[in-house]
Amino acid sequence: MPRPTAASSALFERARSVTPGGVNSPVRAFNAVGGTPRFIRSAAGAWLTDVDGNEYVDLICSWGPMLLGHAHPEVQAQVAAAVARGTSYGAPTEPEVELAEEIVARAPVEKVRFVSSGTEATMSAIRLARGFTGRDVVVKFAGCYHGHVDALLASAGSGLATFAVPGTPGVPASSTELTLVLPYNDRAAVEKVFAEYPDRIACLITEASPGNMGVVPPEAGFNAFLAETCRAHGALFVSDEVMTGFRVSRQGQWGLDGAVEGWRPDLVTFGKVMGGGFPAAAFGGRADVMARLAPEGPVYQAGTLSGNPIATTAGLATLRLATDEVYAHIGAAAETVKSAASDALRQAGVAHVVQATGTMFSVFFTASGRVRDFDDALTTDASAYAAFFHAMLDAGVYLPPSAYEAWFLSSAHDDRAVQTVLDALPAAARAAAAA
Ligand code: PMP
Repeated sequence: MPRPTAASSALFERARSVTPGGVNSPVRAFNAVGGTPRFIRSAAGAWLTDVDGNEYVDLICSWGPMLLGHAHPEVQAQVAAAVARGTSYGAPTEPEVELAEEIVARAPVEKVRFVSSGTEATMSAIRLARGFTGRDVVVKFAGCYHGHVDALLASAGSGLATFAVPGTPGVPASSTELTLVLPYNDRAAVEKVFAEYPDRIACLITEASPGNMGVVPPEAGFNAFLAETCRAHGALFVSDEVMTGFRVSRQGQWGLDGAVEGWRPDLVTFGKVMGGGFPAAAFGGRADVMARLAPEGPVYQAGTLSGNPIATTAGLATLRLATDEVYAHIGAAAETVKSAASDALRQAGVAHVVQATGTMFSVFFTASGRVRDFDDALTTDASAYAAFFHAMLDAGVYLPPSAYEAWFLSSAHDDRAVQTVLDALPAAARAAAAA
């Protein structure tokens, strides 16, 4: 049954007259799935409530950050106490030090610098890599999203080792002409490009396990291969853990491969979970590389709200509560949802493949069997997904409004929330089959 949307529709109308597309980040607009975006009034635990009073099990979790669910009482209490002490000083604070120590204890970084968004983190990491190496070329993979950094909003040119063309108007060719874009999981392409551009590649940046083309995990040993190839050529390996960091495991994606295989990235970017739902992000890495950053070194980087006391308090509270039990709970709930989604789609005869990394997964509506790069991801049947999405929404489950996104759960996804998802799946799968 379609749910009432009069209040969301009215707000969307007003929003469109004062904000481009009515939203402050494009995918929120439901452009990919059609229909009225739901304006959210409040959230608690695993549930969102929209302005029409509809309740939804949240399978986005703010696109990753809400690892503990919404309005976690302990995080809320610490944030409220921090707010009472003032909200920004423009001078250093204790929570920044404590959050940095927590991140250094978990992740493969010796030092970190805080910023306010994942975009800033990757932009700054690349500047630092260039400043450290004295080189200018950056290598990235098609389908990996690193925020809206000019140099990284690039799609591949015609040949493999062709410098990229901008992926959007407004980015001058000069901003992407030093960016090389390769197919993901393709070792030969990586080797070729390092052979073709000796002594020119400052860094290779990759999502630690891509989640922005749907979840496309690195094949076994791929991240180790990237780290080793970069090392052999004097380039830095930048692992973007904005999405995966402190989400797919206690130590992020590195906990699932690097920590086991015994390698470390040179630089890592973080965001989402480490801000506990506030605008906080970071980049960090080798002490000798981070020492090149101002004020210790010459590479400039700064921010008025960087390390904001409310954001760092929320992030610290979140990470301290993110115990092994939290990850185990999310992993088990994700497993239940993932296999039920697959069962329902199979029974309805919908071609699909489910891919996961740690507790993060996505469902590709494709017959291609396995998705190992962006070209594979593009075989997704977006109209089948749109039908599935709306059937789930009508049954009270809020999925990502795009076929190319990860699904996120939290420690607040209890039996009632998971059961609501399971109950919704069969009819949604039949809607996808009919689309
Ligand atoms: N890197 C990755 C891997 C991301 O998933 C994102 C955001 N989805 C970003 C960078 C950019 O982060 P932000 O939206 O905070 O700028």
